Amino acid sequence: MDDAPAIDVRDFRKQYDQTAAADGISFSLPQGTVGALIGPNGAGKTTTIRALCGIIRPTSGSLQVAGFDVQQEPLQVKKRVAYVPDDPPLFETLTVWEHLHFIASAYAVPDFEQAALQLLEELQLSHKRETLASELSRGMRQKVAIACAYLHDPQVLFFDEPLTGLDPAAIRLLKQTMTEKAAQGATVLVSSHLLALVEDICKYLIVLQSGKCLFSGSVQQARHAHPAAQSLEDVFFQITETAIETAGDEPARVP
Ligand code: ATP
Repeated sequence: MDDAPAIDVRDFRKQYDQTAAADGISFSLPQGTVGALIGPNGAGKTTTIRALCGIIRPTSGSLQVAGFDVQQEPLQVKKRVAYVPDDPPLFETLTVWEHLHFIASAYAVPDFEQAALQLLEELQLSHKRETLASELSRGMRQKVAIACAYLHDPQVLFFDEPLTGLDPAAIRLLKQTMTEKAAQGATVLVSSHLLALVEDICKYLIVLQSGKCLFSGSVQQARHAHPAAQSLEDVFFQITETAIETAGDEPARVP
């Protein structure tokens, strides 16, 4: 494993009509880390994650994931990443097991059955193995998406607001597995409003606001830069409120 960052974003811009959803965002995330992408509503978190997965095209800028340029080599990136959106779009007419089978085929995972059974067990989904996606609860749908994400052992995992809808056991499992994946060398980027999650498992912090990156660095560096802050929540508010005081509260817009 070399020292190249797992995720490298340079001057990323995404323009929607008058709204700059991403307005020159730059940050990088080392390999083997759990990083948090945090920021108020509309900060550009989902936009950034979707661009990193190759789902949306940047207006400009460069995005590298697992050593590949997302624009130039999207297939190489897609082979190596998993993305769990906050409201996963499942195949409504496939069962839970058929989802896992499909992912195993798409990513050429050999002998996937054992790993798939274990994931279902861990996520307490074994009893829903033959249930159609259309008949699952919201939390169960998220669990299916998480199982699919883990099944092909990706180098980089993106989670967008992963805890919404999960029960406490699943939250604990997800936090534990994210940390384990990072210890094994994978990189996890998780967007969340829940600073307690960030505090628990994230070593790295990227703070976005109005399409701009206000801070990127280790949690330790963030705390060091804000010595008066009692908690990560305080650090977050100090970073975002300082930016508002200096730049005003207007979202980034083109003239
Ligand atoms: P939240 O915490 O509310 O999920 P977010 O940080 O994920 O917010 P984004 O979804 O990335 O924010 O949105 C950033 C900005 O871009 C917002 O102002 C949003 O309205 C705008 N935006 C996002 N997608 C589109 C789109 N498809 N068309 C137009 N504007 C969009």
